[in-house]
Amino acid sequence: MDDYRHQGLRKRLVEVLKSKGISDAEVLAAVNSIPRHFFIDDTAFMELAYQDVAFPIACGQTISQPYTVAFQTELLQLKKGMKVLEVGTGSGYQTAVLVHLGAKVFSIERHRPLYMLTKDRLMGMNLRANLYHGDGYKGLEREAPFDRILVTCGAPYIPLDLQHQLKVGGRLVIPVGEGEEQRMLCVERLSDVDFATKDLGSFRFVPMLQDKA
Ligand code: SAH
Repeated sequence: MDDYRHQGLRKRLVEVLKSKGISDAEVLAAVNSIPRHFFIDDTAFMELAYQDVAFPIACGQTISQPYTVAFQTELLQLKKGMKVLEVGTGSGYQTAVLVHLGAKVFSIERHRPLYMLTKDRLMGMNLRANLYHGDGYKGLEREAPFDRILVTCGAPYIPLDLQHQLKVGGRLVIPVGEGEEQRMLCVERLSDVDFATKDLGSFRFVPMLQDKA
């Protein structure tokens, strides 16, 4: 159920995101319309769905903080119809934001139970995204190249496969760092061989897993 109370809470969340510097009208509109409480498994946490915090979902993972979702999405500078690869489907909330913005979304999740849970959830909400259970370090060769790639877990380094699956002119948004904190990097592919990287500050993510089936 999504009632006027939830809608009111979303409006407040949009104001919080604005006050923290998010200005992209389409990103704010997506946050305003997607029922984030549908992405939280434990009904005990429903009240927290519209606070600007991250919290636990299945498989010891987290649903990213709304500010982080909005910040990363804004960095993507998406246009309708773009082909986007997301690494780290998690709850599917970020996926829903990308779909709402008109992207053709491909998303990979490493934890099988989470992949299955989120697949059902998005189908139930009639949100069309292509979900995969697999290893985000490898990207998705068969659907490459992508206009945009978004990584939503903390990567120890920038995986080469992801860089190679970017279109020329495309961008990769990825938090990089092995400790508690990561740097939010935005990598633009300038030509076949040239990439330009910008550092957009410090964030915290769950780690990007290696060697896990
Ligand atoms: N976008 C999600 C964020 C979830 S947290 C949301 O808004 O809910 C990051 C997710 O990345 C977790 O679900 C984790 O299981 C997944 N992940 C970690 N390592 C991965 C890898 N190598 N490939 C794909 N997904 C990975």
